[in-house]
Amino acid sequence: MLISPDKDPMGAAIAEYHRTGRASTLRVFSSQFDEDEIPVDQLFRTYEEMPQIEQQALTLARGRILDVGAGSGCHALALQDMGKEVTAIDISELSVEVMRERGVRDSRAVDLYDERMAEQFDTILLLMNGSGIIGNIEGMGRFFLRMKQLLTPGGCIYMDSSDLKYLFEEEDGSYVIDIAGDYYGLVDFQMQYRQIKGTPFDWLYIDFDTLSYYAKQYGFTAQIVCEGEHYDYLAKLWIE
Ligand code: SAH
Repeated sequence: MLISPDKDPMGAAIAEYHRTGRASTLRVFSSQFDEDEIPVDQLFRTYEEMPQIEQQALTLARGRILDVGAGSGCHALALQDMGKEVTAIDISELSVEVMRERGVRDSRAVDLYDERMAEQFDTILLLMNGSGIIGNIEGMGRFFLRMKQLLTPGGCIYMDSSDLKYLFEEEDGSYVIDIAGDYYGLVDFQMQYRQIKGTPFDWLYIDFDTLSYYAKQYGFTAQIVCEGEHYDYLAKLWIE
């Protein structure tokens, strides 16, 4: 489902920054954390400003590329600069408009799960804790089945994520995790920009072993391509 401008805090922040070169605070609420904010200028990062795991994903991307949840189009623009062929999708109508204005040649307001998009891609990118789009552990099946539809034979996914285990570390180095509760990387978020409050949503951060376990259930192999500086990593997923 697409997000309309009146319910789209991140899209509003992206649109304002694009128009004026500045933005107000993009606030993030979660029942699990203190209030936080997303620096809007970072959503407009250039290739040089990107973390190494994202640069790596862009370098490895080949053939027809699908950038899922493309936001301001930062990755799509960098790929175009490298001479690569990219389709950028996002459920935020505002963001897609900004991508178009910034020069992303093929940007579409489409939900990843909308099966009317019936093309296939050689590389599928999900970046900036891209595993979040899976939503929760129950979303794994739906995600991998959709990836199967969208990937060409021999194609692959590059997705980044973080292991949130460090949030549960005690002073003695042990971890206290409630194993009867939800998976520890499941986070609920709600964003606000000026007067615009978004609908709360689930965003899944996942450790590599758990990702790999579920990937296997759906016929995918997972591999760590590289690790970031803070429990984050880039995974490659493909069907052997
Ligand atoms: N990849 C961008 C933006 C990350 S924020 C960057 O790295 O800067 C996540 C983006 O995913 C948001 O723009 C949100 O609108 C989009 N999104 C969330 N669910 C989606 C879905 N089901 N299909 C397509 N885009 C989605």
